Amino acid sequence: MDECIFCRIARSELQAAKVYEDADVVAFLDIRPVSPGHTLVIPKAHYDRFEAMPVEAAAKLFAAVHRLVPGIAAAVGTDAYNLGVNSGPAAGQVVFHVHVHIMPRLPKDGLTLWSGTPYDSDAAREQVAQKIRGAIKT
Ligand code: AMP
Ligand code: ZN
Repeated sequence: MDECIFCRIARSELQAAKVYEDADVVAFLDIRPVSPGHTLVIPKAHYDRFEAMPVEAAAKLFAAVHRLVPGIAAAVGTDAYNLGVNSGPAAGQVVFHVHVHIMPRLPKDGLTLWSGTPYDSDAAREQVAQKIRGAIKT
């Protein structure tokens, strides 16, 4: 994709603080980090969102994430981190080239996670579970 900013970073047409690269994947620092060391890991090939990737490409992407997390966390003095993949505007996706956020976390860094709300009942929860089981393609 000519205009995609992450494709352009992958091709080194746009400057980025790259921390890792292999044949399939590039990792670079997010320009608006939620915490120091916040890193984005992307496939070099363009897929607009996670489920658009062939499973082999997703496996390579997450193999790189698995390799990178200890070093990224250690470099900023922690062993704690959050991983995130935003898919779709309602989930906060802004750049439509799939990417995994690695966000190092420090004690009392002030970042908050989503707060959960219980289902109204066990039956309501089971109804959702049943719908999901029916929708999963095997
Ligand atoms: P998302 O909301 O998951 O689509 O996240 C997109 C992320 O890309 C945001 O955290 C941005 O700060 C980051 N970002 C956008 N442009 C660049 C860029 N040129 N270099 C590095 N990070 C970027
Ligand atoms: Zn792209």
